[in-house]
Amino acid sequence: MQPIPVRQWGWPIPENEHILIAGPCSAETAEQTLDSCKGAAERGAHILRAGIWKPRTRPEAFAGIGEAGLPWIVEAGKVTGKPVAIEVASARHVELALQAGVDILWIGARSTANPFTVQELADALRGVDVPVFVKNPVNPDLDLWIGALERISMAGISRLGAIFRGFSVYKPGIYRNAPMWELPIELRRQFPTLDIIVDPSHITGNRSLIGYVAQHAIDLDFNGLMIETHIDPDHAWSDAAQQLTPDQLGSALNSLVHRRTSVDDPEFLANLEALRYDIDNLDQEIIRSLGQRMEVSREIGHFKRENEVTILQMNRWSNIFESRVQTALQAGLSETFARDLIQAIHNESIRQQGGVMNHETVAVSKANSSETGPILHRS
Ligand code: PEP
Ligand code: MN
Repeated sequence: MQPIPVRQWGWPIPENEHILIAGPCSAETAEQTLDSCKGAAERGAHILRAGIWKPRTRPEAFAGIGEAGLPWIVEAGKVTGKPVAIEVASARHVELALQAGVDILWIGARSTANPFTVQELADALRGVDVPVFVKNPVNPDLDLWIGALERISMAGISRLGAIFRGFSVYKPGIYRNAPMWELPIELRRQFPTLDIIVDPSHITGNRSLIGYVAQHAIDLDFNGLMIETHIDPDHAWSDAAQQLTPDQLGSALNSLVHRRTSVDDPEFLANLEALRYDIDNLDQEIIRSLGQRMEVSREIGHFKRENEVTILQMNRWSNIFESRVQTALQAGLSETFARDLIQAIHNESIRQQGGVMNHETVAVSKANSSETGPILHRS
């Protein structure tokens, strides 16, 4: 495995600015592409985007204007003086995009989910010096995302970045694609120098939430934003609900609060240090308590085994679950977190009792440790 390389975009994007990629979801006409891109460029976009080939979930949806749109986006780049980016999903797309003079390519979420497609793209990119962004796969699988980045990196692409656009859900809640922030945060932890851009348009699916998610992305110290911007969003041929007008893009950007990622004010640092000390101690206490709890679980396991009683008694589990969730809510925890936490504790408790019951402690603990897969240290 070779390390995924560091930012080197080749365009003047100041170090202290977030990279902004903006432009329409799809190129529809020459005029709409140009006007949307001009609007985005005037509001500070460093890179312009427009989809030419659109991977649509349903066959009746607009599947992109195709090859005919390539000169429009290239022209928009020339007029504004900005690099332009499009999505590619096959070797043929790569060839046509490069021939047309497209500056940057990105791999869409549906393609990233398919290693055959990613490998086809990687092979087409071998020997080509073009920047590439890899969107996360539609499903929340970090290794699949990393695998795609690795395939492109191994093809010799050195200007490589990631785009986070959330994950498909069966029933969309307030977001179209669930932002499980822990995944891009883990990607950042493993690859600290990789630029990670957040795409609030595809996460939210709803223009009224874009500012909120963009702020969250900035507060989590991601490196930039991809925001779909259309001259007339309500009449857009794809993703109408989630595109902003250039003016709305401008005001969303102006409303962002850019907080500092570190400070050297001694008083602030001393206060922070004290609070972190408390957190460290509390974490130790929580883990020790969990250890004690599992000791009791194992004792119960012995007791049940001697008396030939099953591990799980549904009534007891239902009572535990409901009462602990109530306690957690009273302690100010969110319901989702409370449910996940109690479920996780209970799962571990069952594993521990299973080990005791069946004398398989060693085998069980080995099986458990492989459940999460090996943690690779690549930073
Ligand atoms: C897009 O950026 O227009 C797009 C199709 O996004 P995704 O691959 O994230 O669905
Ligand atoms: Mn879109």
